[in-house]
Amino acid sequence: MQCSEGEPKAVTRDHTLQRKILHVDMDAFFASIEQHDNEKLRGKPVIVGGNPWGRSVVSTCSYEAREFGVRSGMPCRRAAELCPMGVFIPCRMAHYATVSRDIFNIFHKVTPTVEPLSVDEAFLDVTQNALHCQSAVQVARELQRNVAIEVGLSCSIGISYNQFLAKVASGLRKPNGLTVILPEEAEKFLETLPIREFYGIGRATAERLEARQVFTGADLKALSLATLTELFGKVGRHYYNIVRGRDFRRVEPPGPRKSLGKECTFEEDLRDISEAVAELKKIASAVSAALRLNNLHGRCLTLKVRYNNFESITRSCSLPQPTCDEELIAFTSERLLRERTEVAVRRIRLLGISLSQFAEQSCEIAKPLELRQIELPLIF
Ligand SMILES: [Mg+2]
Repeated sequence: MQCSEGEPKAVTRDHTLQRKILHVDMDAFFASIEQHDNEKLRGKPVIVGGNPWGRSVVSTCSYEAREFGVRSGMPCRRAAELCPMGVFIPCRMAHYATVSRDIFNIFHKVTPTVEPLSVDEAFLDVTQNALHCQSAVQVARELQRNVAIEVGLSCSIGISYNQFLAKVASGLRKPNGLTVILPEEAEKFLETLPIREFYGIGRATAERLEARQVFTGADLKALSLATLTELFGKVGRHYYNIVRGRDFRRVEPPGPRKSLGKECTFEEDLRDISEAVAELKKIASAVSAALRLNNLHGRCLTLKVRYNNFESITRSCSLPQPTCDEELIAFTSERLLRERTEVAVRRIRLLGISLSQFAEQSCEIAKPLELRQIELPLIF
C-alpha cells in the first residue's frame, strides 16, 4: 500500500487487510418469520407493523410488498394505499427475539467474535473459525446453509477485510446474497458508490455533503483530511478513511451491558395521552423482548420523552425487584408518563424506555396488580 504524508497509520495497520470479516443480515426478518410460520402468507405482500388505519409505521415488509414501494418506517396508512392487497400483521417481538437467539447461536458455533448490530444483523470475524476453514466464502455459505436448515430463513452476507466494507457488501445482493469485496477492489468500488450508501454516513451528513456537490465516493475522496475534520470534527477522519477502504475497528463481542432500551420517533407528533400510552405499550413490548433475549432483569426504569420543540426529559424510578416483564414495564412507564411528564398538555415527538441496574440472576417477578399500591420512588 502506498502511503503519503499525513497518513502514517495505514502502514502500521496494514495487517488489517488480512482479516476476514462477515456482515450477516437476515432478509426481511420479521416478515420472513411470519411467512415461514404461516404458509398462507408465502408469496404474499406481508407488512409487519400494525393496522393500516392506525398511526403505526411499517416495521418490516416482505419482498413482495417492496415491489409496491412499501418500505420500513413508512406509515402503515401509506403502505395500505400503495399496496391494497397487503396483509398487515402486528409485531410479535417476543417471538422474533427467540428466533434471533437461535440464529446467534449458529453464529457462535463458527466464532466467538460476534458483534450484534440488531436482532437480525451481526459482524463476525472469521479470520480464525471453528470450521478451520481458510475461505471466508465457504464459511459464509456454511452459515447460510445452517440458518436455512435450522430456522428456515435466508440471510445475505457481505465479506471483506473490515466492517465498513462487509456491511456495504451485504446490502448489494438481497435476498440470499453473498458478496465479496477484496482489498484490491475496494477503492475502485467505493469511488462509484453513492454517498447515501456509505455505512456510517447518515442522512443529515449525506445532505450536507451533497450541498457541497459530493455525491459519490470519488467526490468524497477529493476532500482533504483537513476539510473533512473542519466540516465534521473527529468523525471527519473516519469518513476520510472509509472512502479509502480503511476501517480499523475490531469486531467486538458485547461486554456486560449497563442498560438496555428502545425508543421511537414518531412521524407525526402524538397529540393525546391515549395515543402516547398505546405507543408506550409497543415500546415496552420491544424492551421486554430484548431483555429476555439477553437474559437481563433491570431494577431501574427510565422513561424518555421528547416534546415537539425538541426538549427532552427523562424520568426514572426504581422497581421493587429486577424485571423483564412486559406488563410491569408497560405499567410503570405509563405511570411515569401520566404522573411525571406534561403529556396532557404538550405534543410528543419521541418516547423511549430503558432499564438499567441489572441483577445477576433472574428473580421472581412481581405482578403489576400488586404494584398498584407501590410508591414509585423517583431518581432524577
Ligand atoms: Mg435485515
